[in-house]
Amino acid sequence: MANPLYDTLFGRHADNESAFLKLSGGGALSYREFLARSAQFAAFFSGRGLAPGDRVAIQVAKSPEALMIYAACVQAGFVFLPLNTAYTTTEMAYFIENSGAKLLVCDPAREADLTPVAHKTGARVETLAPDGFGSLTARAMMAPERFATVDRGEDDLAAFLYTSGTTGRSKGAMLTQRNLLSNAEALVSTWRFTADDVLLHALPIFHSHGLFVACNVTLMAGGAMIFLPGFDRAEVLERLPEATAMMGVPTFYTRLLDDPGFTGDATRHMRVFISGSAPLLAETHRRFEDRTGHRILERYGMTETNMNTSNPYDGERRAGTVGLPLPGVEVRVRDAETGEPVPDGEIGVLEVRGPNVFTGYWQMPEKTAEELRPDGFFITGDLAQIGADGYVTIVGREKDLIISGGYNVYPREVEDVLDGHPGILESAVIGVPDADFGETPLAVLVAEDGAAPDLDALRSAVAAELARYKHPSRYEIVDALPRNTMGKVQKTALRERFG
Ligand code: ATP
Ligand code: MG
Repeated sequence: MANPLYDTLFGRHADNESAFLKLSGGGALSYREFLARSAQFAAFFSGRGLAPGDRVAIQVAKSPEALMIYAACVQAGFVFLPLNTAYTTTEMAYFIENSGAKLLVCDPAREADLTPVAHKTGARVETLAPDGFGSLTARAMMAPERFATVDRGEDDLAAFLYTSGTTGRSKGAMLTQRNLLSNAEALVSTWRFTADDVLLHALPIFHSHGLFVACNVTLMAGGAMIFLPGFDRAEVLERLPEATAMMGVPTFYTRLLDDPGFTGDATRHMRVFISGSAPLLAETHRRFEDRTGHRILERYGMTETNMNTSNPYDGERRAGTVGLPLPGVEVRVRDAETGEPVPDGEIGVLEVRGPNVFTGYWQMPEKTAEELRPDGFFITGDLAQIGADGYVTIVGREKDLIISGGYNVYPREVEDVLDGHPGILESAVIGVPDADFGETPLAVLVAEDGAAPDLDALRSAVAAELARYKHPSRYEIVDALPRNTMGKVQKTALRERFG
């Protein structure tokens, strides 16, 4: 095959008249229409002096056109580099310079700020507005609707995604065609996606979840997506009857549960609800099942590896776990310090190996060498435990581990006790400096609506359930935990505020 990723995900649909994107406010785009327009983008980009392997960075609102840029890049052999719409001009300057992007597509509203930044490194600028208009669409309109797909191999880079930056500065993960293809295949078969599926898509497309997990799976299966600009609960509920499947971050599901209109009746026709990108509380899992009869299917992955594990479609979807390794993926747990295997069932750092694992961080050979073992296993930085039956439980990130007086405190263990207490909606436990113990746990709490948690009762509950060194030395109550767009709790921000 000339271009395995393009041919498999896009090319074979070139004459497919069935709906690919069902849009907000009605209207739909067929596969054929989508691919005719993305071919125009591919032709236009190629005419702008870009060569295969060049990076095309975009910072634009989610729209069908934004997704067409992805298809165009794959077809023309450019490396697709989507950037978080929340990034400021200063942050964008880093990403543009670091990636060496040759072209930036940005929102017209950001053009004045970003053009000088792009020009500094010699990148050209085109615009694309949330409604699909802009210099890109205006200029590409004249291009032919067929483009001769550029030859690429499975080892060629297809995309660059920067990590979310939860634990430090974002790193550019280089993903090959094989990484993306092998993962889409594993997910389509594990989750049983077919051409009859209609996926409710309310996630951003600058992140591996909304881009690769959601779109690549749909493209490979030949199904359709209800492609919403973002998560608006009323709109999601309104469009749910047309969907067969939904993918979301845990906050999507808690927000749906907060609406009394989200019921068993509203979800009876659904085939599956999938969750990832951040831990789904076991309690949310249970509430969801009580309300709808559906057991959310939780999976686990990261920018560098795509998806690694998933709860089974048919077997037990176990709350609080991320399930079993996907086909072709191997997992193991190692001691964080020594790198030696840990005894069965004990906690250590999770390592993964498989065709899904990236080739390295862009221009960070040392960081790449630190995190990829010579035998090909990637050190995820997540702490995990693998049960006797193979189910993987993520207990937190190595960087969030608290070492108090020489003892390991796993924040999740303490958070689970706090979350289970009456009046507590959720919590985050962080390590703060302590003169005696080096570090000590501090609990940040969010109360349930209208509740005033009884801290003395909470302290007694903690004392009854957890060893002394795990007890938070301080409790702070906040209105909400700081979260990024993917629903990840920003513990670094909490450490800055309370440390
Ligand atoms: P950075 O690497 O820049 O600090 P990040 O790790 O948050 O940021 P991503 O690649 O977007 O960036 O996120 C991957 C991480 O998300 C995983 O390493 C894991 O910690 C977390 N994660 C993803 N899915 C799950 C899940 N189902 N349960 C628990 N954690 C999850
Ligand atoms: Mg990470």
